[in-house]
Amino acid sequence: MGVTLDLTRAPKSAPVKPNLSGLTRKGLVETLIAADVVRADKAKMRANQLWRWIHHYGVTDFDAMTDVAKETRAAIAERFSLARPEVVERQVSRDGTRKWLIRMAPGIEVETVYIPDVGRAGALCVSSQVGCTLNCTFCHTGTQALVRNLTAAEIVAQVQIARDDLEEWPSPKEDRRLSNIVFMGMGEPLYNLDNVADAIDIIADNEGIAISRRRITVSTSGVVPELEALGARTQAMLAISLHATNDPLRNELVPLNKKYPIAELMAGIRAYPGLSNARRVTFEYVMLKGVNDSPAEARALVNLLKGIPAKINLIPFNPWPGSNYQCSDWGAIEAFAAILNRAGYASPIRTPRGRDILAACGQLKSESEKMRASERRKLEAAAE
Ligand code: SAH
Ligand code: SF4
Repeated sequence: MGVTLDLTRAPKSAPVKPNLSGLTRKGLVETLIAADVVRADKAKMRANQLWRWIHHYGVTDFDAMTDVAKETRAAIAERFSLARPEVVERQVSRDGTRKWLIRMAPGIEVETVYIPDVGRAGALCVSSQVGCTLNCTFCHTGTQALVRNLTAAEIVAQVQIARDDLEEWPSPKEDRRLSNIVFMGMGEPLYNLDNVADAIDIIADNEGIAISRRRITVSTSGVVPELEALGARTQAMLAISLHATNDPLRNELVPLNKKYPIAELMAGIRAYPGLSNARRVTFEYVMLKGVNDSPAEARALVNLLKGIPAKINLIPFNPWPGSNYQCSDWGAIEAFAAILNRAGYASPIRTPRGRDILAACGQLKSESEKMRASERRKLEAAAE
């Protein structure tokens, strides 16, 4: 027997309150004053209190903030939220890698991956966009149609959710499981620099999550005009998705190369603020069988990087449903690495992690692409 639901009188969901987790310290002070929920002369002190609760203790309930007066808490709670976005799916790989599918808003889903034993203790791979506009031919994320920038709150939320799951609140100073952050999830971070920079200010703050900027790496496919701003604003470590040593091949693999060819990219990297032997650029190079993995290409790579303080990260290609490439043979990868090593470059081969749950590099893609933009707009309108 069919049942028809009458939805015409269903209550409209409440408007989404702005989330305080995405505000920088300065933004938090200004927002509290503008909303008239604290006295202007007390705003800085109140913001400092809130900051510690939100980013050091990880609380999601204003009532936990016991050193803030009850009326003030109520006034703030009326206007703002600290709620985490919904975790739609949580998967744990055989190798301990964890992946969360997070719903930021109706139809807006991203994946975040925690990889143990990477960096000092464990790295969180965060997304900066839903999908990606850049269509690199070997990348699953690039095939996702729906794209929007994530807000700073949505980027910070990925770290908060990982910390919830790893039970790392209050923020430990030592023996952390989550020690590094890499912007290597979905999206091109330099197309969303304002929000990425704010999120880094929040994540790196010493009285909060306190992950130092030297342990935060931003990976880009080569948006040359934004490189200097990235360094100046974030002091983050830089990673470049190079993948090819000549323009014709890189044009094919990373189509953005047609706009910013290799020579321009290398010049931009050499000018990256703060570059030194202690702060090297990481070059990522995905190993594609018969495409970019010959000894001649390894030697070309050495030539290209001359004079740049660099590390090279060889990434075995991770296949995904429908991909047209194969991963290089292990022997070819080792031979490639040996040439780089002989030239003095540390060039670790990145062991694929979490492949069984499609959590490895370039395998991320959310279900949200199945929803058309028109459907999403309808859903968003319904939620307003
Ligand atoms: N958009 C940014 C950051 C996200 S991609 C960038 O391109 O740098 C993170 C890394 O994974 C990049 O180096 C990317 O080239 C690599 N990658 C993408 N697809 C991959 C795949 N299928 N196998 C292995 N690495 C892949
Ligand atoms: Fe986008 Fe990076 Fe994937 Fe290229 S490799 S499509 S830039 S996410």
